[in-house]
Amino acid sequence: MPARPCPAYNENVNASAILNADLHCHSVVSDGTLTPEALAQRAKANGVELWALTDHDEVGGVQRAAQAAAAAQLPFLSGVEISVTFAGQTVHIVGLGFDAQDERLVQGLRATRGGRGERAQEMAEQLRQVGIDGAYEGALKYVGNPELISRTHFARFLVEVGVCADTPEVFRRFLTEGKPGFVPHRWANLRDAVHWIGDAGGIAVVAHPARYAFTANEEYALFTEFKAHGGRGVEVVTGSHSPSEYVKYADLAREFGLVASRGSDFHSPDESHTDLGALPWLPGQLTPVWELLETRIH
Ligand code: AMP
Ligand code: MN
Ligand code: MN
Ligand code: MN
Repeated sequence: MPARPCPAYNENVNASAILNADLHCHSVVSDGTLTPEALAQRAKANGVELWALTDHDEVGGVQRAAQAAAAAQLPFLSGVEISVTFAGQTVHIVGLGFDAQDERLVQGLRATRGGRGERAQEMAEQLRQVGIDGAYEGALKYVGNPELISRTHFARFLVEVGVCADTPEVFRRFLTEGKPGFVPHRWANLRDAVHWIGDAGGIAVVAHPARYAFTANEEYALFTEFKAHGGRGVEVVTGSHSPSEYVKYADLAREFGLVASRGSDFHSPDESHTDLGALPWLPGQLTPVWELLETRIH
């Protein structure tokens, strides 16, 4: 596959920001469809120059990804995307460049994953009540890691059986607040997630901030508390942000003194509209997160 260009939309880009870093994606170890090895090869083929695998609540794929990246001569950072509950909503915190063997981090992630099985059973029960049978077993067919059954796996089942045409339709009609199949869940708390990452030597980053339905006050509280707990970064350029959202979160990074990250959030060639490495550069006057992680790159 040919490398895709990353169009610069902002003339004042820092020299250090001109790097095709992709620091957010998912493998079969969480809710992606490719193995860590296939992702490493795809990242390399797409021209990625610095890569991290960030599976949900799980570092089980990091070692495999590191080996595959080394074989492809692709600079690599350890990664994870931790599910957190803040102000009644789910927020995702990406961790980068930590020690993936760190005992407290590994334990914390295990606790965060716990409860996904029961939640999935309840989701299936709600779907049964609207006439969709066999959703738990149907979702399980797509699960690569039995501890990590997620809404994405249910979405694949609902598309497979023809209830919905594609994943975006699933999340419009099902599995989200107020819709059949939504089961509220209590994830990690913000303080713990930021500490697990930081204490393991990594940098905590708020993932895709434009995707949360917070009021301006709640968003301000999120970033204020995140910083107070030791959080250092924010994803400015990510697959689900629009150009105006890049600008908004570039401004927020400067206001809060946070470094900026860049990642596609790639899950699958069939589902993700942003491929690995196919993102614009970080906007100008931002410190890229990789400036803080030079000694952590392998
Ligand atoms: P879970 O951790 O089980 O709550 O599942 C969350 C995952 O569902 C996210 O990481 C995405 O992969 C997927 N997801 C959530 N909302 C959407 C959406 N609107 N469109 C596509 N995928 C979504
Ligand atoms: Mn996901
Ligand atoms: Mn996410
Ligand atoms: Mn993600």
